[in-house]
Amino acid sequence: MESVDYDLVIIGGGPAGLTAGLYAARARLNVVLVEKIAPGGQVLNTDWIENYPGFPKGITGPDLVEKMTEQVKQFDLSIENNEVTSIELSGPIKKITLSDRMITAFAIVIATGASPRKLGVPGEDIFFGKGVSSCATCDGPFYKDSIIAAVGGGDTAVQESLFLTKFAKKVYLIHRRDQLRASAILRERAITNDKLEVVWDSVLTRIDGLTNVDQVTIKNVKTDDTQILSVDGCFIWVGIEPNAEFLPDTVKVDEKGFVRADLSMTTSIPGVYVAGDARSTPLRQIATAVGDAAIAVFSAEHYIENVKNRT
Ligand code: NAP
Repeated sequence: MESVDYDLVIIGGGPAGLTAGLYAARARLNVVLVEKIAPGGQVLNTDWIENYPGFPKGITGPDLVEKMTEQVKQFDLSIENNEVTSIELSGPIKKITLSDRMITAFAIVIATGASPRKLGVPGEDIFFGKGVSSCATCDGPFYKDSIIAAVGGGDTAVQESLFLTKFAKKVYLIHRRDQLRASAILRERAITNDKLEVVWDSVLTRIDGLTNVDQVTIKNVKTDDTQILSVDGCFIWVGIEPNAEFLPDTVKVDEKGFVRADLSMTTSIPGVYVAGDARSTPLRQIATAVGDAAIAVFSAEHYIENVKNRT
């Protein structure tokens, strides 16, 4: 029998990846979790989490990640900092190419999550890091008594804009419709926050400044009127894109590029599973990511056992 490095390789170290690691390590699989930078994923950029059970007063994203990492370490999960550049899935043994070598495994859990989507307006790239950001936790404290423009109407935009009001004297939340997409409790908080003004039916069309952001141009989509807002910073939260560029075409994705899976979290390729934000799913939460991961590893365990019995 051809030698295989691992039973299971988990790609990504956010809540889905760490949960997959926890379940796989406890199942005594020969497993490695490969993470590009450090465990955490998007949760590291989340200032406050109050809808993940077990933390009645809420918890910061970094604190939750620290607890999850501490928990997997109890079970000796092997974590490697490396980047997966491609994977080859044609046979029963999967080949995973890392930045410095190739490893093999019977099964893979894709838990690579997603990244903030860009708006694609002039100034966005030039001023990124000079007033344009997608991370309120990282950059919010620099905006004490400042005026900020934020774009988007989903959970991220509203939650993070509310966080920014702790520092800024004013946050304009620019949303393209007349209704926020965010959950009801966040909508209520946005509407009642004195420092936050929702600019309805409007899109941000450009970002300008000398060395840093000085102003943004917004356009009302109903009247076509344009307006310039003098601001010190601009945060963009207009959705997410899956981190799935390393996957071959044989792994089926939806129209937005998120990986399709059945109820066992199996993708279009047997032995390849997906969990968390990279999955095509109607709800992306930490709670759903950890649930996906538990199911994915449960399915992988059975798959690995069968493959080993066959070979
Ligand atoms: P999202 O739910 O997809 O919302 C994206 C927002 O950006 C929408 O309001 C959308 O407008 C707007 N938008 C998209 N493209 C735009 C464009 N080109 N110009 C202007 N506006 C644009 O993304 P998200 O808020 O990042 O959330 C991602 C997932 O994580 C969601 O499933 C969310 O529920 C979850 N999440 C949950 C929490 C929480 O539970 N506390 C926190 C953060 C994220 P429309 O509404 O008009 O489409």
